[in-house]
Amino acid sequence: MHNHHSALGLATSLRPVEPVTLIRPHAAHRAARFFIEKFAGKTMYAVKANPSPALIRSLWDAGITQYDVASANEVRLVRHLLPEATLCFMNPVKAEEVIREAYFEHGVRAFSLDNQDELDKILRATDYAKDLTLCVRLRVSSDHSKLSLASKFGIDPAQSASLLMAARQASDSLGICFHVGSQAMSPQAYIQAMALARDAIVQAGVTVDVIDVGGGFPSIYPDLEPQNLENYFHSIHEAFESLPISYSAELWAEPGRALSAEYSSLIVRVERRRGTDLYINDGAYGALFDAAHLDWRFPVKLLRAESNQARDINFSFYGPTCDDMDYMAGPFPLPADVKVGDYIEIGMLGAYGNAMRTEFNGFMPSMTVIADDQPMASLYNDTGDHQHSIAMR
Ligand SMILES: *Cc1c(COP(=O)(O)O)cnc(C)c1O
Repeated sequence: MHNHHSALGLATSLRPVEPVTLIRPHAAHRAARFFIEKFAGKTMYAVKANPSPALIRSLWDAGITQYDVASANEVRLVRHLLPEATLCFMNPVKAEEVIREAYFEHGVRAFSLDNQDELDKILRATDYAKDLTLCVRLRVSSDHSKLSLASKFGIDPAQSASLLMAARQASDSLGICFHVGSQAMSPQAYIQAMALARDAIVQAGVTVDVIDVGGGFPSIYPDLEPQNLENYFHSIHEAFESLPISYSAELWAEPGRALSAEYSSLIVRVERRRGTDLYINDGAYGALFDAAHLDWRFPVKLLRAESNQARDINFSFYGPTCDDMDYMAGPFPLPADVKVGDYIEIGMLGAYGNAMRTEFNGFMPSMTVIADDQPMASLYNDTGDHQHSIAMR
């Protein structure tokens, strides 16, 4: 793999025709160390945010040993890359054949569920194994999050007593898990979810061995600048300490976005300008699904060697495919004189960027390059000032 010191250096020296994925293993390493050192529990990486083998290896090297997987291919991928890793199958709805393969061929022992049918399925598929960790997924609010995960999965905590009791009987270790929604903008999300977990435990009267607070830990984007992650950890630790659970109970978290967002960015080229619409060579079917469909605003930077006097104005992007929906409204502020042939770095695409890429219409990035420079924003910079380590446009 190529190595470059910076996005600017790469754009000016290589002048790539196709989009380039920039990866920053040092940023993923720093995020993982932050969680390992400051979160008082087990940090597992939610692989769906970015299943790139190079990222998974960087996280492992930084000390992340537990991985949240949700499909047969994710189980196989992580097991193949990391024979020693602990895999937890946290998709509440799974095929029976896949559970069987995960248990018997890949050593998976932890599974989530949110209904009795799934519990029966897990027990059949594992030949009524006695060494299971079963995590009952509670439905909690996504009110504090940018992306809801409140309707598809999770049992209503008020109705969860009999399922918790059944899972307790069938398991070696009983867990409670939830997901507050992705990009949770306040620690309050976790405080409220922990209160629901408390009620469920009290009602069911069961001994709980694992509290898994799921994902949702934020990254930093334009207009979405969260508090320091240590505030989130502090709120979770406090709520965990006050739960009616055994002293030996474990606390788990499943960050996807927070461990991967800073890992990668994209260099695109402007192929046409029409007023404030820029036609670039990656888009909704590439790494910019969230920019197109969720109006997510990613930071952008013009990569030009000469200093620029033009003031910023707001642009929108069209992607390269022949589809009107390949449109990212932004706004993306860039110098007013942007022109055909210019290169732009689009930052913070490590989470749910490359993972969502398709090859629709034949467009795909030509290469992946390692960069040593800083991501366009960071929650983990070394100065202690958690935001704006690099000025965000
Ligand atoms: C998507 C997902 C995650 C990761 O969520 P982030 O918001 O990216 O941290 C964790 N756990 C489960 C079960 C998920 O579905």
